Amino acid sequence: MKSASRIYLSSPHMNGSELNYIHEAFRKNWIAPLGANVDGFEEDLQAFTSRGHAAVVSSGTSALHLALVLCGVESGDEVICQSFTFTASANPIRYQGATPVFVDSETETWNMDPAILEKAILDRIKNGKKPKAIIVVHLYGMPAKMRRIQKVASTYGIPVIEDAAEALGSMVEDRKCGSFGLLSVLSFNGNKIITTSGGGALLADDKKSIERARFLATQARDQAAHYEHSQLGYNYRMSNIVAGIGRGQMNSLDEYVLARRANHDFYFRELNGNWLTAADASAKSRKESSNGIYFLKEPAGYFSNRWLTTILVNPAETGGVTREDLRLALEKENIESRPLWKPMHMQPLYENSPYYGWGVSDRLFELGLCLPSGSNLTDEERFRVVSTIKKRLKKADMNSKQNNSRVTFTRPAE
Ligand SMILES: *Cc1c(COP(=O)(O)O)cnc(C)c1O
Repeated sequence: MKSASRIYLSSPHMNGSELNYIHEAFRKNWIAPLGANVDGFEEDLQAFTSRGHAAVVSSGTSALHLALVLCGVESGDEVICQSFTFTASANPIRYQGATPVFVDSETETWNMDPAILEKAILDRIKNGKKPKAIIVVHLYGMPAKMRRIQKVASTYGIPVIEDAAEALGSMVEDRKCGSFGLLSVLSFNGNKIITTSGGGALLADDKKSIERARFLATQARDQAAHYEHSQLGYNYRMSNIVAGIGRGQMNSLDEYVLARRANHDFYFRELNGNWLTAADASAKSRKESSNGIYFLKEPAGYFSNRWLTTILVNPAETGGVTREDLRLALEKENIESRPLWKPMHMQPLYENSPYYGWGVSDRLFELGLCLPSGSNLTDEERFRVVSTIKKRLKKADMNSKQNNSRVTFTRPAE
């Protein structure tokens, strides 16, 4: 029987100040359309990310869709997308009738591999089509190798759309995620760093792009007293009530990032974690013993918001215990955990889409688990998580523990 209350992967964390903005909107009867909270939330996001302009919309998915429309993506086009991500990164490509071309991850940040990206671009050009855009993701809050990706993108003149849905508050050398793309996307879905119950934002430095995004997001209505339309529009704007929640959440953003990072450090310490570094990942094997639980280290200069704490569970070192064994043990104690995102190139939905890579994200999916990571987790809850994991690891079959080869990613010979 399940007795203790459920521990969630990442649940909404309200601070109370959200209600002030909502009450103010009610007092003025400014429930819709748009209004002061929408303007205020957009200004807050611009200031936080140091972007010129922001438009808040109904979801991160709709922001990505608008970004593709702004890049001129049309039916028959190709768009490069990180394979290791949540399906919302890729689906808007299909909304436009275009084809996603998936690119695998590197082992240092688990995001788009710049070398494979360049190979993919060259191959697509050889096949007769230059990709119209590149969608890069900062998965689980870890920033992608943006400098190298942008260099490749600019070499071939392809715009970068930055999916920072999981990375609000993450940085590379003081530069915030959400400031790297020609167009950048945030999400305020219920499980993200901050939430508006549901919502998203599109960020850019170019004023015209954001003005056009706002126009498209409000049914593309031309200037006229009557309703005149010459372009296809969408109903994607965020409501003034929802934006009020966002303004309140911004008051706690820095604190929530620190809390999520503290979760990560707690798990690392309590589980006796090993760092998965590029050196580890490429080494054939190591002598020193390990308990088979790996964490992803921040490369020098990188700051992850640690949206979700992710571990790799290596059965070759745990005595056969897999990430699925841990997930089931946690579930039995009424604790939610989740395998890492299943890469898009492995999804039935995208089985016919081109893919470039050598199996990094496949292996991450096979070994990886997300642990409860909410900024509102209590010490007691975190202890419940680690003691459940430790107990399950102890039950492992020690006889099968002779094989202690480390987690490796071996690039196949060319
Ligand atoms: C959550 C998420 C999205 C989509 O955001 P919604 O607001 O849920 O539409 C897109 N990309 C990634 C990587 C996400 O995690």
